[in-house]
Amino acid sequence: MFVSISTRCKGCGACAKISPEVFDLYGKFAIADQNKVCGNETSCIDAALNCPASAIVIDDWN
Ligand code: SF4
Repeated sequence: MFVSISTRCKGCGACAKISPEVFDLYGKFAIADQNKVCGNETSCIDAALNCPASAIVIDDWN
């Protein structure tokens, strides 16, 4: 699974609350630590589903 943040991000911080292992805020934009995605897939999906800007993009690389 590969997680990225699109330019639609509004910097609300919801993703960092839902999945703090993977997401953090850098200024007014979210960043995702791809190295932490493995093992945190469920919370990444949860963050994506709850992003008010639909800014979290998940690609399912297997
Ligand atoms: S939940 Fe969405 S809009 Fe909010 S900081 Fe995260 S990526 Fe950006």
